[in-house]
Amino acid sequence: MAQRVAIVTGGGRGIGAATARILAARGDRVAVTDLDLAPAEETAAAIRAAGGEAIAIACDVSRRADVEGAVGRAVETYGQLDVLVACAGLTRDNLLHKMTDEDWDIVVATHLKGSFLMAQAAQGHMVGRRYGKIVLTSSTSALGNRGQANYAAVKAGIQGLTRTLAIELGPFGINVNAVAPGFIETRMTRATAERIGVDYEAMKEHAAKEIPLRRVGQPEDVGHVIAFLCSDEASFVSGQIIYVAGGPRG
Ligand code: NAP
Repeated sequence: MAQRVAIVTGGGRGIGAATARILAARGDRVAVTDLDLAPAEETAAAIRAAGGEAIAIACDVSRRADVEGAVGRAVETYGQLDVLVACAGLTRDNLLHKMTDEDWDIVVATHLKGSFLMAQAAQGHMVGRRYGKIVLTSSTSALGNRGQANYAAVKAGIQGLTRTLAIELGPFGINVNAVAPGFIETRMTRATAERIGVDYEAMKEHAAKEIPLRRVGQPEDVGHVIAFLCSDEASFVSGQIIYVAGGPRG
């Protein structure tokens, strides 16, 4: 098969950046997108420095025009689109009685609407070619997590979206799956520690004690599973939620 083309959202940092690097190392040409251009460009430059092919695109996944522009730019640059990995995300944690409309709306817009918009734009370039791999990002928080009513709701929603897209797009040769990471060492978990005033090292240590494999995850732990789900070795896997959490529930 000719070299594939992948688009990765939230590709400037954390899990998205690791996934973009892994896909590129496996031979995909990668459009790295993020809210700001600078982190996306950093990942793309690292890929190019390692001998891969990548471009960087600024894209707010909650905005239809940005999403359609980014997907259009990837296709213009590389001629096709084979893989979508949706990693863009943020948290606005708060107990229910303190959660604002803004906390709710930005989390829903980024994760749930963002995944919907990206999948919708990407499938337009996949259906006709009868080939595509889509991986969305859920979380162990989908099972419920204190202080994350907004985030848990969207991460559970992404599981329903994944299963539904797998049913709708399967007849067109498109696999749709999701990863559900547990505690992964990224800016997101570091920011949570800062926000609640807990030392990050102590937070990781505490989390590791609760995880059956007795460690927190690294972005690459998730990136390798995403790359597998995007591979043709996983071509009969669709509509699945794969927990990457060091245990059954993280
Ligand atoms: P991260 O390091 O903070 O990376 C997320 C990236 O998404 C950031 O570069 C962020 O930009 C970007 N982003 C935020 N809003 C966006 C928008 N509207 N459009 C485009 N990009 C946007 O976080 P991560 O830990 O790698 O998280 C990646 C995914 O995994 C997220 O969906 C997250 O919910 C999920 N996840 C993470 C964990 C974990 O423990 N880390 C666990 C379960 C699930 P800014 O930095 O500029 O905001």
